[in-house]
Amino acid sequence: MKSLLKWLRPREAAMARLVGQFARAESPSLDKAAVDRFGRLVAAEWRRRGAQVALLRQRQRGDHVRAEWNPSGRRAQGQILVLGHLDTVYGLGTLARMPFRISRGRAFGPGVFDMKGGLVIALFAIDALAEAKLTPGKRIVFLWTSDEEIGSETSRAVIEREAQRSSAVLVLEPAAGPLGLVKTGRKGVGEIELIATGRAAHAGLNPEDGVNAIQEIALQIARISQWNQPRRGITVNAGVIEGGTRTNVIPEHARVVVDLRAERAEDMRALERKFRELRPILRGAKLQIRGGFNRPPMERPAAAKLYARARALAKEMGVKLGEAYVGGGSDGNFTAAVGVPTLDGLGAVGEGAHSPQENIRIGALPERAALVAGLLATL
Ligand SMILES: [Zn+2]
Repeated sequence: MKSLLKWLRPREAAMARLVGQFARAESPSLDKAAVDRFGRLVAAEWRRRGAQVALLRQRQRGDHVRAEWNPSGRRAQGQILVLGHLDTVYGLGTLARMPFRISRGRAFGPGVFDMKGGLVIALFAIDALAEAKLTPGKRIVFLWTSDEEIGSETSRAVIEREAQRSSAVLVLEPAAGPLGLVKTGRKGVGEIELIATGRAAHAGLNPEDGVNAIQEIALQIARISQWNQPRRGITVNAGVIEGGTRTNVIPEHARVVVDLRAERAEDMRALERKFRELRPILRGAKLQIRGGFNRPPMERPAAAKLYARARALAKEMGVKLGEAYVGGGSDGNFTAAVGVPTLDGLGAVGEGAHSPQENIRIGALPERAALVAGLLATL
């Protein structure tokens, strides 16, 4: 580990430069052409390192990039999957307001933390392994997807398929907190929409003929809000609400979109069931329920062994590595749920994901790359 880190340390500036190149290639999830441009840039870096690269073509979303690195050739036994995403939450043109810049040892810019820094870490991990002539015994598949920030609709099946062929999954999502904790548990995440239909009427002339859809939705929100159990890790948040046309009209339509989170798969299923069983409260109102859990929880046992290995490798470098449980979901939720050991948050150390202050600590890049390299060489 020490020699990997020793080789990587002087490459800190080169790593930051590549993060800059990546950040300048904007890649908002919803813009296929932009994500594809960035994907080609990433693909070229992998080809230069001798990986076999395939673009998994998508019609609406950006193409996913699959890079297979297999230095042992036919002797390779088994597979490790390294996961990350190409897309960011920042729209085209964000760069004009939020240019890539380096200041006081930190690199700022759209997506540097979530998660272009992680993509750079993977590339340099491979460089360090090649330089040290450490040949992993397994085939390593790097899968860089195009739609993580919008729910991974087009990538989920390929993520699960590659995970099922693998004995471990490493996810290069941002680390947690200033100490760079890895993520050993994540809540399951879902979205449910309640749509109420009432009956329109004049609010002054014949209010008795109306059924107020907004009132129906409000009553439902009051009911579902009681399902929050923060101590058990269950949260229900009415996040978007819509309805009505004019103040003098009894509204016929209203809807609410609710964010759901749960720590345990059983709680997730129970919560979904409760939503399905909701019935209208006002007489004459209709209620429709759509959606549900999208990402199952990533429960800690799936990560415990990998975490112990990562911790031991970090210790060899003189770094203390901690773990965190987080409420946010990632593609690691999918791989853990199909039963494959998954360690998440191995990417960059930074802060301000999805905000104008998004930045990473440049000094941590070599350490993280050494850690990923160490894992790939020993798993
Ligand atoms: Zn991310």
